[in-house]
Amino acid sequence: MAASTHLPSLVFPGKYSPSINNKKSCRLVCVSAQKPEKEIFLKSKVNTLLDSIKWDGKGLAVAIAQDIDTGAILMQGFANRDALAKTISSQKATFYSRSRSTLWTKGETSMNFINVHEIFLDCDRDSIIYLGKPDGPTCHTGAETCYYTPVSDFLQHPKWFICNRLKIIGWRQLLYTH
Ligand SMILES: [Zn+2]
Repeated sequence: MAASTHLPSLVFPGKYSPSINNKKSCRLVCVSAQKPEKEIFLKSKVNTLLDSIKWDGKGLAVAIAQDIDTGAILMQGFANRDALAKTISSQKATFYSRSRSTLWTKGETSMNFINVHEIFLDCDRDSIIYLGKPDGPTCHTGAETCYYTPVSDFLQHPKWFICNRLKIIGWRQLLYTH
C-alpha cells in the first residue's frame, strides 16, 4: 500500500470544486446547474458501495484503523452505513458506538483524529480498513495504538499485566477520551 494512495476525489462530494471562469457568465450558470446533478450521482455511487457491504444482523461491520506511514494497527471498532458514509465525506475515521448507540468520530473529544487517505474492504466485504494518518496517540491510555499488549509477554508475566490492567481500567474511567 503506497503512502501516496488517496481516495478518489469523486468519492468526496465535499471536495468537489468546479473551476469557474469569471469572464463568461453563461459558464457560471452551466456549472451551477451541473453541480447538484453531479452530487446526486456521487451519492448514488456511495449508496451502491454501501449496499455492497455485508453488514451483520445489527447493520454493523468491523472497522480497523491502520497507520498509513507505519502500518501499525491503531484500533478496531464497528461501522454502520452512516459511519462509513461520514468517513468517506469527512475523511475522518468514524465509527458506530455499540454502547452509546451513536456515531463517533475518533478524535472528537481528544482532537487526535485519524485522517483517512484510503478505505479498504476485505474479500468477503464484511470488514473495513480505514488507512490514515493519526494526529496523535490513538488509544485513550495515551499509547500510539490500542494493541500494545503482546500475548507472549502476558503469558510470561501475567501478574504484571493484571496489575497494569487494573490501573488502565481505572484510568479509562477517569479519562474517557475515545
Ligand atoms: Zn485504546
